Amino acid sequence: MPRHVIVGAGPAAINAIETIREVDGGASEIVLISDEPAYARMVLPYYLADQIPYQQVFTGDGAYFDRLKVHTRFGRRVNRVDAPGRTVTLDNGETLAFDNLLIATGSSPVTPPIPGADLPGVVPLWTLAHTEAALQTMAGRPHPQAVLIGAGFIGFIVLNAMYKRGWTLHVVEREPQVLPRMLDRDSARLVENWLRGKGIGVHLGTTVTAIESLKDREDARWPRKQLRLANGATLEADLVVLATGIRANVDFLRGSGIALDQGILVNERMQTNFPYVYAAGDVAQGPDLLGGPPAIHAIQPTAVDHGRVAGANMAGQTVRYPGSLLMNILDVCGLQCASFGRWHDPQAEAMVLHNPSGPIYRKLLWTGERLTGAIFVGKAQDVGLLNDLGMVKGIIQTQVPLGEWKDFLRDNPFDIRRAYVGAGVAARLAQMTLLGQPTRPRQYRYLGRQPQPQITNPFAHQAYMSTRPGK
Ligand SMILES: Cc1cc2nc3c(=O)[nH]c(=O)nc-3n(C[C@H](O)[C@H](O)[C@H](O)COP(=O)(O)OP(=O)(O)OC[C@H]3O[C@@H](n4cnc5c(N)ncnc54)[C@H](O)[C@@H]3O)c2cc1C
Repeated sequence: MPRHVIVGAGPAAINAIETIREVDGGASEIVLISDEPAYARMVLPYYLADQIPYQQVFTGDGAYFDRLKVHTRFGRRVNRVDAPGRTVTLDNGETLAFDNLLIATGSSPVTPPIPGADLPGVVPLWTLAHTEAALQTMAGRPHPQAVLIGAGFIGFIVLNAMYKRGWTLHVVEREPQVLPRMLDRDSARLVENWLRGKGIGVHLGTTVTAIESLKDREDARWPRKQLRLANGATLEADLVVLATGIRANVDFLRGSGIALDQGILVNERMQTNFPYVYAAGDVAQGPDLLGGPPAIHAIQPTAVDHGRVAGANMAGQTVRYPGSLLMNILDVCGLQCASFGRWHDPQAEAMVLHNPSGPIYRKLLWTGERLTGAIFVGKAQDVGLLNDLGMVKGIIQTQVPLGEWKDFLRDNPFDIRRAYVGAGVAARLAQMTLLGQPTRPRQYRYLGRQPQPQITNPFAHQAYMSTRPGK
């Protein structure tokens, strides 16, 4: 019986396990080693915002792992990998042999070198433990006040959760705009104005130089803090959230012979330079859907895809991954923001619709007749916008040449659906599967709840399919 050792229990690992079991039905040994329990980080903001209970953060429990015949070693770290010798060494000195190894160790936040960044109540909000620390910090405070350092994608997800809590908020960003790795200047300006309109303090083009404890005003378990900014301003906070970037968890692999760049380099089967050592998720630097150099796309959909492709290959199938698509979709306090693919490509032909009073921003970036990037900003309550986001993602994902529909979109930027269906994107997507078969629902159920069956009507788009753009 082959033995698969899997390190990390995030979404990449869980999806690999489910896929291995889909293929082999239990005819292999799986050992799962993780220093944290099995949960989804992207759910943490919902827990922080008090929208879901603690238990709903988890993606598996003892009964689930028993049913999938997985030997779990939670609370343990892998400290060393001997790839040629096919062993891993745990933090208790134990050595385990493997036939296949999956490294799904994710990434960790980078702590900025700010004096006071180690004070209680200063957290990166990356793990469940950080989230609990943040909630404890704010518990019982009459007027909770938080400062977010770093206005990036993850930071703003956390900002949105804190906004739902009704906390007083400030954000400090070194760059002259918010979301610098997700939006261009014009769209970022809409977000900045939106935040100010919501009463959130936005401090751009400056840094936090020190975080100090205001011990003299200590009123609860944690002292209140003062932040000094490079522009001379000061801010007060109960909670400081650090969101200044992440780094792939590869340090324990130095000297292992496994090829590393920013992450673990993998091919389209998720194999490293040792074919029986796989990597998936935030830690893996792999194929880019749009043909760029190997990339880390540290988002949940990539972790899920990577995990499923790695799992299928570990179980003996030959599955090739077409590559991950860079995408960030975000609700910023009621303003929906999204960018896809090569949204910052200076070579691309751009179609822009910009209405600051909306606020509405739509930018489509073209490489010939193919859509290769997009930026969208608009009100989160606009259902049409949300539908368009999904369809734009599909158009980029399939890379269908849009032909005459490109001109149609130039004239009708709000009629994405007609182009999406008319150009055959919907039909193409319906046929695309990652593993050559439809996805099976995940086997873990919170409180045993079953997913609702999806209603599929293959003729629903017939009317659109037979239309052409009018002149
Ligand atoms: C607050 C927050 C919100 C997010 N929201 C979104 C979102 O809305 N959309 C989105 O697409 N993405 C979101 N993300 C990102 C998403 O959660 C990650 O891309 C995803 O978790 C990556 O999954 P993974 O399995 O690769 O790694 P992880 O989920 O990080 O899991 C890896 C696990 O391995 C463990 N580990 C590391 N090293 C070792 C070792 N040596 N030995 C044993 N165990 C080890 C880690 O502790 C961790 O538990 C969010 C992330 C955060 C923090």
